[in-house]
Amino acid sequence: MAYQLAAKVRDLVPYDPIEGQYRIRLDANESFLLPPPWLQQEMEDGIRKAMCNRYPDPKAEEVCRLFAQYYRIREELVTAGNGSDELIMLIAASFLEKGDKVVTVMPDFSMYAFYSSLSEVEVVEAPKREDLTINVDGLIQTIQRTGARALIFSNPCNPTSLGVEAQEVRRLIRSVQCLVVLDEAYMDFWDQSLLDEVEQYDNLLILRTCSKAFGMAALRLGFAVANPVLTRALHAVKSPYNVNSLTQGAGAAVLSHPDYLRECVGNILASRDDLYQKLKPMVDGWQNAGMAISCTNFVHIRTPHARHLFEGLKEEGIAVRLIAGGLRICAGTPEENREVARALKKLGGGIVV
Ligand SMILES: *Cc1c(COP(=O)(O)O)cnc(C)c1O
Repeated sequence: MAYQLAAKVRDLVPYDPIEGQYRIRLDANESFLLPPPWLQQEMEDGIRKAMCNRYPDPKAEEVCRLFAQYYRIREELVTAGNGSDELIMLIAASFLEKGDKVVTVMPDFSMYAFYSSLSEVEVVEAPKREDLTINVDGLIQTIQRTGARALIFSNPCNPTSLGVEAQEVRRLIRSVQCLVVLDEAYMDFWDQSLLDEVEQYDNLLILRTCSKAFGMAALRLGFAVANPVLTRALHAVKSPYNVNSLTQGAGAAVLSHPDYLRECVGNILASRDDLYQKLKPMVDGWQNAGMAISCTNFVHIRTPHARHLFEGLKEEGIAVRLIAGGLRICAGTPEENREVARALKKLGGGIVV
């Protein structure tokens, strides 16, 4: 054989988030909101302006500027990515060297460990507490003990829906000597962001995405925010034309409507609260189960019967995520929330105390 697959990819299988057909999809933490017709029109206009015979703007300047305006930060600190996923891969591949250690917390977003190991970076998993909260002091110790080059975690966390308050995150960043990659994919749903103080740190890189609160998962648009030194390095290592012109055109149309974006966040939060209210009394009645107050657009129900419930929902045509000892259920339309609550009530009957 002329070529044998590298050992690190030999046993990998393509990412397949979900197989099968579902009536209701609450498994990927997407927004349930589609742009209204007037915005759809502006997105189409933005796409039409894109010149498909020319390479895209390598700096994706317009979307970076609009993103910076929305969050009131300096646009010089912003890098656009083909989804924040691309940026995670890029950081793992180029800010770390083969054999370096990166600390992740468990459970957390699986892509951190995935891209790190692809880059032959050693992943050190720091466990969370029993209640799925992060033990900040334990984390600092793990980083110091292992001499890790980087820490990466999501705040608020996917899949637990829990958040670490800004004050604690600051203390963490100041206590360690490594790069801290703070994935704020869900921070539009909480108010503990470190975005506007990112320049105060030489070791902080924040990730954001348009896939969750802003309803643009299909466009693939994410951002990194960091001080000028880190930003310059990120620009230097990224693929020059990483964000295509159609995404830049459509993304700019959406990002130029801050009131609309805030309205989306408000609507999603209302749905999340509605979902929580519908499920909470039910979960409280289940043995050994629990659901914490969420800082995100989804809820996480801890229960030993997660698999049973997951399979039952599947049969009802409802997709959720089976993860971290429970079910992760994304906020949907009022009708979808009602349906998932109704189905869980039916399925949960057998496990009530
Ligand atoms: C969804 C998600 C992302 C990925 O966002 P994209 O911009 O769509 O790639 C990143 N981090 C976390 C924690 C997520 O849940």
